[in-house]
Amino acid sequence: MPSKIICVGRNYPAHAEELGNDVPEEPLLFLKPPSSIIGDGDQIVIPDGVGEVHYEGEIGVRISESGRHISEENAWTFVDGIMPVNDVTARQVQRAENQWFKGKGFDTFCPLGDVFPSTLDEFEELVLVTRVNGHERQKGMVSEMIFAVPFLIAYISRVVTLERGDIVVTGTPAGVGNLSIGDIVEVELIGRSILRNSVVGESVNG
Ligand code: ZN
Repeated sequence: MPSKIICVGRNYPAHAEELGNDVPEEPLLFLKPPSSIIGDGDQIVIPDGVGEVHYEGEIGVRISESGRHISEENAWTFVDGIMPVNDVTARQVQRAENQWFKGKGFDTFCPLGDVFPSTLDEFEELVLVTRVNGHERQKGMVSEMIFAVPFLIAYISRVVTLERGDIVVTGTPAGVGNLSIGDIVEVELIGRSILRNSVVGESVNG
């Protein structure tokens, strides 16, 4: 279990634009609580009365050892694996907040896929696709990111000590949209790993 999940907002220009936001000059960081984690095949539970809920297909990077003031040059040596992530977001709740604790933090709102090793070169070639009920909704390339991952790790480690097992979630490409009860959502890192979750309403689970 990670001590923290650090997410990057608006790290793809086309996604910042689609929600009417400017491209940030510095990384926009927020946290998802470890209690929001579920695994591949688990159910995303939409709480009653939260309104619109969106998928955000993303790539997570897992930290291998404790580090503070990590240099950009050494940053990838602190990564021992990557995974598909769905940064599930209650969009109306988020829009009503200055901080995104509720909109991003509900139980089950952080599905994580299986971790696999990757060199930085392999990582930079990755393509991310999100599908809902088999239909492609998002397609993004790591090369489109505004802030590259080594820079992000260095930047974040000037704020907090990154601990073994922590996850940095690197932002979503354009094409975010609704999840409804009964949907199946997939985040695939093409050729490497697929994260698949079904969506249920809170009352279904009692
Ligand atoms: Zn996100």
